[in-house]
Amino acid sequence: MANAHEETVNRIALRLAEVWDRISEACRRAGRRAEEVGIVAVTKSFPAEVVQAAVAAGLVEIGENRVQEARDKRRLLGNLPGVRWHLVGHLQKNKAGLALALFDLIHSVDDPELARILNRRAAALNRTVPIFLEVNVGEEATKFGFPPHEEVLFRAVEEMLPLPYLRLEGLMTVAPMAPDPERVRPIFARLRGLREKLRERFPEALWAHLSMGMSDDYVVAVEEGATLVRLGRALLGERA
Ligand SMILES: *Cc1c(COP(=O)(O)O)cnc(C)c1O
Repeated sequence: MANAHEETVNRIALRLAEVWDRISEACRRAGRRAEEVGIVAVTKSFPAEVVQAAVAAGLVEIGENRVQEARDKRRLLGNLPGVRWHLVGHLQKNKAGLALALFDLIHSVDDPELARILNRRAAALNRTVPIFLEVNVGEEATKFGFPPHEEVLFRAVEEMLPLPYLRLEGLMTVAPMAPDPERVRPIFARLRGLREKLRERFPEALWAHLSMGMSDDYVVAVEEGATLVRLGRALLGERA
């Protein structure tokens, strides 16, 4: 009889295989290679055992949206070799230091002042931190992120590029909720367009990544150029 842990691992592995099939098909349709896409398993609100099972199922990029929740889980989990931790939710300035202790990569930089604080904290740790800029493409009042205007982003990037301990690697967005994922295709296309503008204006930065697409819309996001999809429910099941 398989124990509960093995069953969870198997269930996640099955879902992961399905997700990769859908990503591969989306890549084929878009003329991309599936190797260009990575999966961040977003484990927010799932217990530490589920994170462990996700890693056992082959997921190595783990995302959390809250610093304290991540801290509690990481205390329980100890060191998980080979795992990279992604902060995908809003970061308060007073938690910047703690965030750097917990996360390898931050998707949600939404303010040059936050970037300056992160840079200072990273300097103290002598560490270079990959960051993405979060863009509120749908301009929703309930969401964080820079407004989706190139002048605003240009100004922010001008302030951030000189920060030596941060490495700007791309853009991130959370699309509005929509009953039909086709409705948010323009959101993803817009983020890709903004990256092109930033690439032209600031060729010295990397701009390798578009972090976009969640369980309900990742197929469309991949068709529109996502390099990282952030998946919770599609891999782990419904949150309690
Ligand atoms: C929760 C969350 C996800 C994953 O959501 P699902 O709908 O469960 O795939 C992705 N990105 C962010 C920023 C999140 O907060």
